[in-house]
Amino acid sequence: MTTQVTQPADANIDTALERNRRFAASGSHQGATVFPNLRLFVVTCLDPRVDPAHFLGLELGDAMVVRNVGGRVTQQVIDDVAFISQITENVLPDGPLFEVALIHHTQCGAGALADDGFRQSYAARIGAEESTLRERAVLDPASTVASDVERLRSAPAVSPRVAVSGHIYDVESGVVKTVVPG
Ligand SMILES: [Zn+2]
Repeated sequence: MTTQVTQPADANIDTALERNRRFAASGSHQGATVFPNLRLFVVTCLDPRVDPAHFLGLELGDAMVVRNVGGRVTQQVIDDVAFISQITENVLPDGPLFEVALIHHTQCGAGALADDGFRQSYAARIGAEESTLRERAVLDPASTVASDVERLRSAPAVSPRVAVSGHIYDVESGVVKTVVPG
């Protein structure tokens, strides 16, 4: 596992709540719309270094964002994209609906799923098939993001009017590179 883990400070929701009070007082939440300004649905990793509000400069209301371990296209992600497909089809009867941008990243902790011991105990812990967890490992983000683009594009529940693109975020350079255009 290449992810650097340093000893964290104690959990601190109070600091986050203080920031929320300043946010609410600033009024910047007002006027945000439910339809995303950039017509984007971002799927990426839950790693705190990989927050698309920062590395994509997303403002409030710009995009839908789903984050999970590795930013993988799981059944739950397919269901979520299908849900938004169904909602937007009602608003936009023709033409493109939105774009799903899948973004995997370098130094991803999901690489731990390639470790036999880790994967076996995690599979037992969550009651999952070990073989399916092996596929969730992110060792080569260019390869995993390409296979996830294919998986989402071929999901029958996802409208063909949804574009799907694949990208890699480099946590060292800060640059996002497109590997599969939408
Ligand atoms: Zn990650």
